[in-house]
Amino acid sequence: MAGTTYPPHHQLRWPHKLGIAYGGDYNPEQWPEEVWAEDVALMREAGVNLVSVGIFSWALLEPSEGAYEFGWLDRVLDLLHEGGIAVDLATPTAAPPAWLLRRYPEIRPRTREGQVLGPGARNGFCPSSPAYARAAARITEQLGKRYGSHPAVVLWHVHNEYGGHVPACYCEVSAAAFRDWLRERYSGDLTALNQAWGTAFWGQRYGEWEEIEPPRLAPTAVNPAQQLDFARFSSDAYLECFRRERDLLRALTPQIPVTTNFMASTCKNIDYWRWASEVDVVANDHYLKAELPDNHIDLAMAADLTRSLAGGAPWLLLEHSTSAVNWQPRNLAKRPGELRRNSLAHLARGADGLMFFQWRAARSGAEKFHSAMVPHGGTDHRIWREVVGLGADLAALREVRGSRVVPDVAMLWDWQSWWAQELEWRPSVDLSYQDAIYSWYERLWRAHLTVDFAHPQADLSAYPLVLVPSLYLMTDAAAANLRRYVAAGGTAVVSFFSGIVDEHDTVHPGGYPGVLRDLLGLRVAEFLPLRAGQSVTLEEPTPDGGTPEGGMTGDLWAEDLLPDRADPVWTYVDGPAAGGPAVTRHRFGDGTAWYVSTRLRGTALDRVLRRAYADAGVRPPAGVPDGLEVVRRVGGRGEFLVAINHTGTDLSVPGHGTEQLTGATCAGELLVPAGAVRVLRTR
Ligand SMILES: [Zn+2]
Repeated sequence: MAGTTYPPHHQLRWPHKLGIAYGGDYNPEQWPEEVWAEDVALMREAGVNLVSVGIFSWALLEPSEGAYEFGWLDRVLDLLHEGGIAVDLATPTAAPPAWLLRRYPEIRPRTREGQVLGPGARNGFCPSSPAYARAAARITEQLGKRYGSHPAVVLWHVHNEYGGHVPACYCEVSAAAFRDWLRERYSGDLTALNQAWGTAFWGQRYGEWEEIEPPRLAPTAVNPAQQLDFARFSSDAYLECFRRERDLLRALTPQIPVTTNFMASTCKNIDYWRWASEVDVVANDHYLKAELPDNHIDLAMAADLTRSLAGGAPWLLLEHSTSAVNWQPRNLAKRPGELRRNSLAHLARGADGLMFFQWRAARSGAEKFHSAMVPHGGTDHRIWREVVGLGADLAALREVRGSRVVPDVAMLWDWQSWWAQELEWRPSVDLSYQDAIYSWYERLWRAHLTVDFAHPQADLSAYPLVLVPSLYLMTDAAAANLRRYVAAGGTAVVSFFSGIVDEHDTVHPGGYPGVLRDLLGLRVAEFLPLRAGQSVTLEEPTPDGGTPEGGMTGDLWAEDLLPDRADPVWTYVDGPAAGGPAVTRHRFGDGTAWYVSTRLRGTALDRVLRRAYADAGVRPPAGVPDGLEVVRRVGGRGEFLVAINHTGTDLSVPGHGTEQLTGATCAGELLVPAGAVRVLRTR
């Protein structure tokens, strides 16, 4: 879209004089004042240097409209500053006060089903509401004026997790704002909108703008192009809320950077590629999926995606947990050492600050069973000791700050394709975008390759290999970008259900896979989704009739594939496409494009990826044992190898240099004890 560049341009503005940030959300308003002095003393003991303050404090700071009580916050900020703790000061606009929702009930958001969401939780506001906008601007301006010159404040934390609970608002005010957004998108041309949305289907043609509504609950599936535009509008509506507060703060305090906490990789509702260039520092919240086996791989993926949003620049982890969270079905506690491994994995992948939700475990409210840096049981506790230990680690790692992660390959990622792929009435309900991405990412992690995520229209020329798992929505520009990349010598691996529709969810003309046919050198005559639990066998025929590594299986999907110029490499032995090609390879210009027409996982996927690595000249690092996570960061002050042992066995990796956490000299082999982390300075 106009005004967006890929990757985002970043003028990183790390908070002045702040090294590697360490701390968490600090909510002193939940505690009597006599606890505050102890808090600051404990923060110093743990090596905390930054805390996020005031995230949900609106009702305390403005107890009634236009009346302010800043005294308590003055005292908190002064106390923190005296203790040498810097502040990431929040605008509290994710927590509209009860008086605001009572006085201006139109602020309450409305769901797709028409239900109005009430107070008593958080994030209950309509992003298009003028009454909300006025009130949010007022409290933001008050905070900016009062604290912009306070010496403790080094960063502005606008709002909290935009789009986290209310993906979109469907009220009448939002409907009018949606129509305004559409008028701009289609340059006031209703015929263009009718064309783009394909409203000839089911007689949905609009004769006047006023007839258009948000995609509210309807008798059956609502027009998919309408749903896509509404998702774009909703992400933009929240972005307008962010910009309003950011611009007020920038005008008052141009020297203080502004951020907001993303939820990259888990939040479907926000197009973070469009947001990333709007913040001064990219910041993310990440929580382990507690029951997912090897959930540290999902953590690595979120961290790689966040770094990619930052254009490779260092980023800030604003929230993660010291142990269990409170909102999953079964909130598993982290085991000893897991806190350090998790935190330093974010650092390995580019984070220059590690913050937790939250400082002190709450006794009341919805999140009282969420772990914290200071647990309910106080400081005579394993978690506290690990928190103090991590603070000491970060002090030892200060030279890492500002260095950059060295990526090996790129994977395309697009929120808009995610939205489109998971609308109603796709060829199979089993198609999940996150599953497609994760199952490929996991194999790269296990091969010790570091992944950058890229927008489909980003410059890909720096990468030897680009992976494209299920990119259903591809614009002509994105397809041309991938073609250019391969023609110039790149290697791409594309999976099924890619390149099918344009930005309006309209099928590209000329048959599947639409805009990728010439790049892949094939056509797909028909999708052949499989039954639940069904699998298909693939083999690689050789001239003598054998299969060198034996067969392998796919599931979820098969295709009736017609390779025009592509070479069949694996073929279907059974299933609905028996006898036909399953995996193909096509030389295109100076490069190579692979196509995988079924869902492969695990070692089966490895077999295809290894061929692509060979084409691309990608060599997974040798001598790194399974379960050892190894990432390199390079910068002006040195080159660092972060090694994280996720196993119960001591492991080692080749290396020379000085280990930063123990001070040990390493000549040839870096030993990483079971469950431990080591950071080798190699230069
Ligand atoms: Zn609304």
